[in-house]
Amino acid sequence: MSQSPLPETDWDLTRAFWQAAKENEFVMPRCAGCERYVWYPEEQCPHCGAGDVLWVQVEGRGLLFSWAEVRHPLHPPYKNQLPYITGIVALEVDPRVHYVTRIVECTTRELVIEMPMEVVYRELSFHEVEGAVVAPVFRPVA
Ligand SMILES: [Zn+2]
Repeated sequence: MSQSPLPETDWDLTRAFWQAAKENEFVMPRCAGCERYVWYPEEQCPHCGAGDVLWVQVEGRGLLFSWAEVRHPLHPPYKNQLPYITGIVALEVDPRVHYVTRIVECTTRELVIEMPMEVVYRELSFHEVEGAVVAPVFRPVA
């Protein structure tokens, strides 16, 4: 049995993230103790150890940190998406937060390190996989 390529939207640690995405909102978990963002989500803050991590809405903007174009499907359901660009965006709200994402509405030729990026919401669906999930992805700022 192969695992679904869709994100698990009902997992306690990330449920709020996917619910917000459905409403076209970008949220990040932030520690109530030291006020640093905790991405990827964890129950306890990795910076100060506090157990009070709360979801807050943030501006979906950042600078392009890195990217790669995927041309070969590593997993069969991805074959109808090729080629696609995967990348890392350093969020404006705290550039220490590196958000791994899909980069859309551009080609790799247009991408430049540290170019401004903004969030957009796209429905993820896969070849021969039931269901779809709205996900925050990034595109270059026009
Ligand atoms: Zn903390």
